[in-house]
Parts: sequence; structure tokens; C-alpha cells
Amino acid sequence: MSCDFLALAVPGVQKLSPYVPGKPVDELARELNLDPAGIVKLASNENPLGPSPKALEAIRAELAELTRYPDGNGFELKTKLAARCGVTPAQVTLGNGSNDILDLVARAWLAPGLNAVFSQYAFAVYPIATQAVGAQGKVVPAKAHGHDLEAMLAAIDANTRVVFVANPNNPTGTWFGPDALESFLARVPQSVLVVLDEAYIEYAEGDELPDGLDYLARYPNLLVSRTFSKAYGLASLRVGYALSSPQVADVLNRVRAPFNVNSLALAAACAALDDADYLAASRRTNDAGMAQLEAGFRRLGLSWIPSKGNFIAVDFGCDAAPINQALLQAGVIVRPVAGYGMPTFLRVSIGTEGENARFLEALEQILRG
Ligand SMILES: *Cc1c(COP(=O)(O)O)cnc(C)c1O
Repeated sequence: MSCDFLALAVPGVQKLSPYVPGKPVDELARELNLDPAGIVKLASNENPLGPSPKALEAIRAELAELTRYPDGNGFELKTKLAARCGVTPAQVTLGNGSNDILDLVARAWLAPGLNAVFSQYAFAVYPIATQAVGAQGKVVPAKAHGHDLEAMLAAIDANTRVVFVANPNNPTGTWFGPDALESFLARVPQSVLVVLDEAYIEYAEGDELPDGLDYLARYPNLLVSRTFSKAYGLASLRVGYALSSPQVADVLNRVRAPFNVNSLALAAACAALDDADYLAASRRTNDAGMAQLEAGFRRLGLSWIPSKGNFIAVDFGCDAAPINQALLQAGVIVRPVAGYGMPTFLRVSIGTEGENARFLEALEQILRG
């Protein structure tokens, strides 16, 4: 008889469900025999503008070197990020997407008998990273779909090594302000690493959201995680980074895979950092698209969770699965969030004006039909 390798897996892994990504355009095209060119994908919080021309140029210039391993220390990108963020290169850790950073944290500080605290409705990777190393995820009930930082503080116990907080959070788009973060950091035990996930921070304006970097010098137990996947438009290349104390970075550097960020990603990320016009266009497109979707939802009598990300969770007040199915039939891919415990919602990434309009028209037909 063959072995039951599921039963032999780390207990936390046995209870995990695989991450469910947004449906790829080509998959839907195959399933429904649709023209891929006519499909609108607003399901994975991707940048709708296409990559920065400067990033593309940097990638082309790098192609001839593909036989070589990439710079395992990511010297140029770390130097650029450090200068940009006002830290030293020794405080920067590069990741294969910021997802990699979350995994490195779990591998470095979590183990069976230890736990990580995170919120209900928080990013799906937190439980995966935590349970994959046999640690326990302590899920704290959300408040109005957002992080209840007071309750998260109260959930920290002697075995807590990590707290994951996303600001803004995905899939809800909820956020907290500088005062809330300050008051939280001041009370988290110094032995607990706070992972402040700022995957969408580049979309924030003014001082509604704290800038995690402002707190690094005072809180050596703070790690700020960021990504090139969203506002910088490089999701497929997989590059993210952490900013932390040099010691935390040193620990992460011990557990990471030697060449975790590839050379095309390194080159493109450097170029993207220099493309201020692209970033500004990403913001503008997002602000305009957010207003367009909110106006559409208002017109359709729908409610939604106000969001500071590049996506918005809309509430249908009933099972959203049939609406999602009808949208797919119409060639529009959005993200069901029933797996997050939000079965009446769909999460919609902000697209271009035309994509948002296509989605709203399809939705109107479905709801009126
Ligand atoms: C998209 C996202 C990430 C980043 O993913 P990458 O691995 O960098 O592509 C991290 N955290 C949250 C909350 C996200 O939504």
C-alpha cells in the first residue's frame, strides 16, 4: 500500500487550502470559448497600465546575461531602495515578491508551539506562511472588516513571535491611521516582530495612512514589507522587499534562497523606481477608476467597503457566486472572496476607464436582467 503523504505532512499543512489566484484570461477563454482579447481581468490587483517602458528597456538590456546567476546580493537595487527610503542597504532584504518576505519571516521566527497573530479577512498568505512551518495562526475577529488593533494586541501571548498587519488590507481595502499604528507599536512587546505589509502604500496620499518608514528607527521590532507588483506594475517578475533593522535583515538573509530575485526583476525594479511618471500615472488611473466604480455602485444601489488600495470589495447582500458566474460568462473576471469568509462580496481591481466601464455595464445587465 502506498504511503499517505498528506497524513505525514506538518499538521498545519494538512489543514491548509491552496491559495486561489484570480482566473487567468487564457483559462476563461478556453473554458467558455471566448476571444481572450475581449476579456477584462480585474481579479488580481494588477496594474492596468502595462509595464513601465523604462522597465521594459532595462529588461531587454539584461537579456544577453541570462546564462549568469543574478547578483545574489541585489547590490544596485538595494542601494537605490536604501537611498529612496532613507535607510542603509544593510536594512533592505529583497524577496521573490513580498510573498517571499512573508515566508522568510515565518521560517526564521515561527515553529511548532509558536504563533503568529493576524486579522480575520487579512491577506491569505499569512495563514499559509504560518501553518507551512507548523506554527499556529491566531486569527483576531475584524472590526467593520478592518484590523482591530486593540484586540490584536490582546491576542499576543508568550508564544507569539510575529504579528502580520496589512495597511491597507487586501481583500477589504481597510486601513488605519498614524495614531493607531503608533499606539499599537508602542504596546507590542519588543520581542514580537511586527510585519507591516504595505503592498499598496504607493497609492496612498496625504497622511491618512502612516508611512511605516517613519517608525523604523524607533521600533527595531518593525519590518515594513513592500512590493513592485502593484503600483510599479511588475507582478509577473516577482520582486518585493523588506525594510527593517540590520539584525532582522541579517536573519532573513540567512534563510533566503541564494538567488531569490532574478536578474530581469532586479533590472526592471531599478528602472521602475526611476520612472516617476509611471508611478504618477498609476495613482491617477487608480483614483479616477476608484471614483468611477464607486459612482457605478452608487447608481446600482450597491454598498462597498471604502478602500485605499487598487481594488474595492462590493457587497451584494446575497450570495455573490451566481453574479461572479454571470460576470465570467460576460468575459469579466473579478475575485470571489467567499474563501475569506465574505460570500456576499466580490473584490474588483481598479482597471482602466474602459475596463471599469465594461465591468459596470456587465454588472448592470446582470442585476437588472
Ligand atoms: C499583492 C499583495 C502582496 C504582494 O504580493 P507580491 O508577492 O509582492 O506580488 C503582499 N501583501 C498584500 C496584502 C497583497 O495584497
